[in-house]
Amino acid sequence: MKLLSIGEFGLIEQIRRNFPEPEGVRGIGDDCAVIPQRSGLDTLVSTDMLIEGSHFLLADISPYELGWKSAAVNISDIAAMGGNPTATFLSFALPKTLPDGWVEAFMQGYADISSRYGVALLGGDTTASPDRLCINVAVLGFCPHGAAKLRSSAREGDLVCVTGTLGDSAAGLHIVLNGLDRSTSEAQYLLGRHHLPTPRVSEGLSLASCPGVHAMMDISDGIASDLRHIMEESGLGASVELCKLPLSEELKSFCALQGLDAEELAAAGGEDYELLFTMAPDARPSVPYTVIGRMTAGDELVWPGSNRDFVGFRHLI
Ligand code: ADP
Ligand code: MG
Repeated sequence: MKLLSIGEFGLIEQIRRNFPEPEGVRGIGDDCAVIPQRSGLDTLVSTDMLIEGSHFLLADISPYELGWKSAAVNISDIAAMGGNPTATFLSFALPKTLPDGWVEAFMQGYADISSRYGVALLGGDTTASPDRLCINVAVLGFCPHGAAKLRSSAREGDLVCVTGTLGDSAAGLHIVLNGLDRSTSEAQYLLGRHHLPTPRVSEGLSLASCPGVHAMMDISDGIASDLRHIMEESGLGASVELCKLPLSEELKSFCALQGLDAEELAAAGGEDYELLFTMAPDARPSVPYTVIGRMTAGDELVWPGSNRDFVGFRHLI
């Protein structure tokens, strides 16, 4: 099928070409759209969809976790711009086969993360689905005018940095997909990272106010894929050292036990929802972070010291 053959990003590029950006607005191509307001603030807007069978399996995630995650992945896109999240709109198409109490538990997870981040639920849409469960959340936030951290602002020579650790969520997914023992403390941690992600809102705000921090995004598809967005939008290449990728102790011991490659999960595994950012070498952010590489001239992503290439998670292929 033609649309599927060009892949998710090819399709988005095609849509983008046909819908030019209005003057002064940042539209398609970043974690959020950035819309200036008369108040002197910029409104941030994003929307994300979760489809049963594609983003989650109903048998493997509790309704509470799914409610949490649906809001979390959207709030994360506000964090990615260095913004304050304010409100969400929740739409779902519910199959009639959902058990009693399922929606209540989903809404409890949604409510808990919303109150943790001070985000109000202001509307949505509810409908029946003949087949799979579909969830769509739209999120609104704000930042001072011009303060949003864009994917297009990286500069040659910038350090490439990440918050937190990478690969935990991919390991959690591996446990789910392979029906592995969930009772160990490592498995519990990795599953928690997969099912109950933490949007890095305060880190994003802090990074956005740090002089020398240039480009930023959240890591939803794995750095191998997501860093390419910063490269493309900024017209640069990048070099990332695999051995510098921050790994949790839980991931290291889980991978040692299972014979998995922790660095590969960290490079190509999705859904970490950490922040990926670039900064001038003399910038001094006050949040914990790890330097994993550098922005370079050109358009290639290279992994010095490794003869492997990583792709990251792709939809529609
Ligand atoms: P993220 O991973 O941060 O959610 P995506 O990779 O899903 O971002 O989307 C990249 C960009 O493409 C975003 O700016 C998003 O709003 C835009 N986008 C994705 N799908 C569509 C679509 N069907 N129509 C218009 N814009 C889209
Ligand atoms: Mg994003």
